[in-house]
Amino acid sequence: MKIARKLLLYILVPLITSLLILNIAFYLYSMAFLKEKASLMLLSQAKEISNEIRYYVQRSKGDLSILLINRMVMDYYFVYSALGLSDYAEEVRFKIETDFLRTAEEKGEYAAIRLIKLDGISAIDIIDQKIDYHHFDFSKEAWFQNTLSLGKGKTYISPLHLSKERKRPQVSISRLYYNGVGRKQGVGSLHICVNKFFRKILERPIGENGYTYLADKDGIIVAHKDRTKIGLNVKGLESTKNVLAGQSGTITERDENNKILMKKAYLPLEIEGLYLIVAQPMSEITAFGKRQQLLNLIFLIATVFLVSIISYIVAGRFTKPLSELEASATTIGLGNLDKQVPRSGNDEIGSLAKTLDLMRLNLKDSMTRLEKANEELHELDQLKSMFVSTASHELRTPLTAIKAYVELIKDGDLGPINEQQRDKLEIANQNIDRLVSLIGVLLDLARIEAKKLEFRMERLEPAKLIDEVIRLVEEMVHSFGHQLQVLADEPLPSIQGDHDRILRVFENLIGNAVKYTPGQGIISIEARPSEGFVRFAVKDTGIGISSQEIPHIFDRFYHGDHPLVKKRGGAGLGLAIVKGIVEAHGGEIWVESEVDKGSAFSFTLPVFRNGK
Ligand code: ADP
Repeated sequence: MKIARKLLLYILVPLITSLLILNIAFYLYSMAFLKEKASLMLLSQAKEISNEIRYYVQRSKGDLSILLINRMVMDYYFVYSALGLSDYAEEVRFKIETDFLRTAEEKGEYAAIRLIKLDGISAIDIIDQKIDYHHFDFSKEAWFQNTLSLGKGKTYISPLHLSKERKRPQVSISRLYYNGVGRKQGVGSLHICVNKFFRKILERPIGENGYTYLADKDGIIVAHKDRTKIGLNVKGLESTKNVLAGQSGTITERDENNKILMKKAYLPLEIEGLYLIVAQPMSEITAFGKRQQLLNLIFLIATVFLVSIISYIVAGRFTKPLSELEASATTIGLGNLDKQVPRSGNDEIGSLAKTLDLMRLNLKDSMTRLEKANEELHELDQLKSMFVSTASHELRTPLTAIKAYVELIKDGDLGPINEQQRDKLEIANQNIDRLVSLIGVLLDLARIEAKKLEFRMERLEPAKLIDEVIRLVEEMVHSFGHQLQVLADEPLPSIQGDHDRILRVFENLIGNAVKYTPGQGIISIEARPSEGFVRFAVKDTGIGISSQEIPHIFDRFYHGDHPLVKKRGGAGLGLAIVKGIVEAHGGEIWVESEVDKGSAFSFTLPVFRNGK
């Protein structure tokens, strides 16, 4: 699955990184955007509020005039009564109180109704009794003046304004009354406060902690969400200053660390002397951005999660054929050539699988051929061994006959011969002996290789064996001018082996040592115990064997390149036979040698064990 992980890494890491970068960029952008847009948003909110106020004022005026015309019984009868000119004054007053008050309260407004006698300006304030307006001088009031100049039957509707004492927004509607002879007799007016509507506007939510307030032309807060703020003088505030100068716009309020605290929008209302200010704390504006960012982040995490799962599945699918391919390659690597490589589609992996399968088939084919060749070789080898053994037999029989005849002739048994003839026959006889011995060696070798040589295993004493060896070779060694030494640890354990063949081993090794040691050398025989074996060695001080030659010297028919080998060398079978004999005993043979210094042939033979 390694490749799947890599794929995931290559796809997912850049993807997630770019998503993250995008997200951060979007966040930064949206924050900057928000800061700028917040002002505009506040201003448009302020405009909306002012529009609503205007709309309401229009509507109120309409309502009021209808109210006045339809419900107010401001006719002569009523005015006369109310002004105390009639006996029905109390009755009318009660009627007005209940009717108007109820109507006004139903509409959620505060209402006052006034009747003013024009001679000497005395007023009867019927409903608004908390303040005593009796004998109040209204002559300075705009609505009063405007009403006085009205013609008969006309109604004056004032613009929205703040009430004098309580700074409440109000609208008033008034009428002038004439007596029978056309003299101005009195003024009747209806005043309605529209506080509730302002409250509605002021309580309009501006974010969570934002607020709206209204200030008058003196910079005094006349309406505020927080009632304790009403009456505060905010003339010193930048926003108030601007708005008092008749401007509209937005402003940023900062703390002493230059951190933005507030965003404000300010706007003069079309209502006389009223200004609107909409404010929102900056933290709230950015909190919106942060909330947005959190949403983004959640979205991002969800996306990453989804993409990961999808990528995992896709990568898994994509790499499945590769994993199968890997498994197949491993199987082939382990030598199982019978399992077909699964085919998978027509893409690169598919053709790779095809190639791998082709490789497997070729390999299988080669292996089969190799096995066959090996078998053939083995057969050939056996055939050769058989041939050698048969040939040796067939050669030995006639040779024995020849030798017998040669000896008969040589001994003069078949008639007299002269000295010269005898010498030649002697040479012939020696050559026959060499030939017989060579055939014997070949026969042995063939048998050893065919594992058909029979061994007569017996208990042998190494010391005795070495004595015998010395007796056997002594003469030959000395005839070459060499010395013979024996180094044997006493006591040595008995060994188990074929007496005659072990003598052959020594004979061969000492023969080589003698042959391949020029001048007068030293030939030594050693023996010492070695973990269940006795290790024998034949050492010489001769020409030595090069490291290139060492691996081959135990091969059949091998002989070295040294001139002395060329001169004295034999058929190259001696060491092959020696190795065969030693290994047939369960021992080992090896050589250590240094060119021009000498060689040491060591071999081991097993210690004798009872019952074996
Ligand atoms: P050969 O009949 O030629 O002696 P062997 O099988 O006995 O055949 O030895 C194979 C070859 O190993 C020799 O031809 C010779 O090159 C090398 N060899 C064997 N014994 C010795 C030795 N004692 N010193 C140097 N070379 C040796």
